[in-house]
Amino acid sequence: MGVSPRFASVLDRIAAEIAAVPDRDRGRPADYIPALAEADPGRFGMAVAELDGTVYGVGDWRRPFSAQSITKVFTLALVLSRDGEALWERVGREPSGNPFNSLVQLEYENGIPRNPFINAGALVTTDRLQALTGGDASGALRDFLRAESGNPGLDFDEKVAASEAAHGDRNAALAHFMASYGNITNPVPELLEQYFRQCSLEASCADLALAAGFLARHGIRADGSTLLTRSQAKQINAVMLTCGTYDAAGDFAHRVGLPGKSGVGGGIIAVVPGHCTLCVWSPGLDRRGNSVAGVAALDRFTTLTGLSVF
Ligand code: GLU
Repeated sequence: MGVSPRFASVLDRIAAEIAAVPDRDRGRPADYIPALAEADPGRFGMAVAELDGTVYGVGDWRRPFSAQSITKVFTLALVLSRDGEALWERVGREPSGNPFNSLVQLEYENGIPRNPFINAGALVTTDRLQALTGGDASGALRDFLRAESGNPGLDFDEKVAASEAAHGDRNAALAHFMASYGNITNPVPELLEQYFRQCSLEASCADLALAAGFLARHGIRADGSTLLTRSQAKQINAVMLTCGTYDAAGDFAHRVGLPGKSGVGGGIIAVVPGHCTLCVWSPGLDRRGNSVAGVAALDRFTTLTGLSVF
């Protein structure tokens, strides 16, 4: 890892601005998963990874946090890389306009989730990866993230996974409901175990910015091999832009202007295709589930650098 002078002063400036925000204006950590509620909303980290793997960060950029729904991007990529277009028969690619764990659309849309980033869609994607990997979807995800981040110590947080399983009634309802339409192929308890493990993955801003690098390199992995076609990488970036930040994707596109994916652990990854990837983390969330300081930091980054897809 090196230091990129290109972004150093911008990140230092953003960190200073965020540090001046009082705690009361930083949102609140997610509490529907009790293990996440303990996070300190005063924490903030941000990393930028360039295409060659040079990474620079500020604040808590090397501190691991719960990646949660950010992992949905990587699961989707692993399925598309093995399966091509077939997944899109089972999952749509339209914004849902509903909360990430909502059940309402599934019945009148015959068990086909709107997109791979709401929980229903992620359960279908994990179900497919489970079938493609012989049952160890979360292991395949962890191995991929380890390889792309260069961090062999990256792992699940069993305490968070257990906390999610103990409070996972909505995810269980989503999975059973889709199974009734034939859109889940594995036994639901096994799928839920894989899904909760996947969500509990702990990684730092540096890890996740590096791991998402293939999206800025148009599908090319850190070792130079091809994970996705250029077109598939474009598809993932497009779904991130339109569906990656819960039902606030319009506001995120308006403010930040980049494909992004957030998680209820307070992390957000964002992609500047052909340039770099970013990851921010601050556990205080707004009412839609996005990190308050994280969105603000990305907003400032694109404003100060002029880097955006628009
Ligand atoms: N594990 C969380 C859940 O399924 C993920 C939510 C998220 O980060 O959006 O509710």
